Amino acid sequence: MKVMNCIKEKLFFLKIMNMLNKNKYIIIFIFFIFPKITFSNIIVSIRPIGFIAAAIADGIMPVEVLLSKNASPHSYHIKPSDILKIKKSNILIWVGPELEHFIVQASSLISKEKQIIISQYNEVISFLIKNNTCLNTNKKLESYNMHVWLSPDIAYVLSKIIYEKILYLIPNSKNQLDINIKNFHNNLLKVSNLIDKNLDNIKNKKYYVFHDAYSYFEKYFNLTPSGCFTINPDASIGAYTLNIIKKKIITEKIDCIFIEPSMQSKIIIRIIKNANIPVKILDPLGQNISLDKNSYIKFLSTISNQYIYHLSQGNNK
Ligand SMILES: [Zn+2]
Repeated sequence: MKVMNCIKEKLFFLKIMNMLNKNKYIIIFIFFIFPKITFSNIIVSIRPIGFIAAAIADGIMPVEVLLSKNASPHSYHIKPSDILKIKKSNILIWVGPELEHFIVQASSLISKEKQIIISQYNEVISFLIKNNTCLNTNKKLESYNMHVWLSPDIAYVLSKIIYEKILYLIPNSKNQLDINIKNFHNNLLKVSNLIDKNLDNIKNKKYYVFHDAYSYFEKYFNLTPSGCFTINPDASIGAYTLNIIKKKIITEKIDCIFIEPSMQSKIIIRIIKNANIPVKILDPLGQNISLDKNSYIKFLSTISNQYIYHLSQGNNK
């Protein structure tokens, strides 16, 4: 009953927030008149981070993803309803200000103790890869690639960070946490070994990715892409770089170019199509994978199957 009332209050609350979109004074007012509303949950910025959190928090607390399907963390604008979710969350997990600038201000509404800012942990920093492979470079961009969620190494480290955070906030969840993390680590090891074996036949294929979201996966599994076009799929690409891309895909013998489900850049699609190279889709955010304790394992499998299917002989024309 208490839970139902809480959900009703939350829905009512969110309805008001949506009606009064983008008015910060009203947000402050609502926090003031409903100070006792509490939601026990984990809020994560993007879906793949939610996959890892859902495995560790299974049976302990629900996980909710801030960005809707198809939304890009590179260009997202935070909504009042997102701010409310962050404010009322027990734990906020996000990659960091380099990728998710839209969270920076809202994250100041909750204590650092309740947050996991992935890019700021030393255990994660030791696995970071530099940004230096894309044709479309922007000097203002961060120096490290922040698409960290496709790294099995970082997923392992992050699962331990989430474990510690939940244990600290809910000490009596230890038994369930121990079961969850053990299962996650076992499954992660199994799927990584299987993927490594399955990718063997395509390790010499030549391909470009439009968006550099896969470096961690490629490094871990020894794939060797010919390159990537851009680190930020929402940034514009100048005429000079477009020319370089055009020349490269015409002169190099490329097996495939990978784009993404929500890709915006029509000009790139036109250039690729004119070059008559197979264009296939990789999904770095796992948009069609539902959130549960097995999601992250499914996510890695799905990505590896997409690589294998599209790069295997006979499937890329
Ligand atoms: Zn990206």
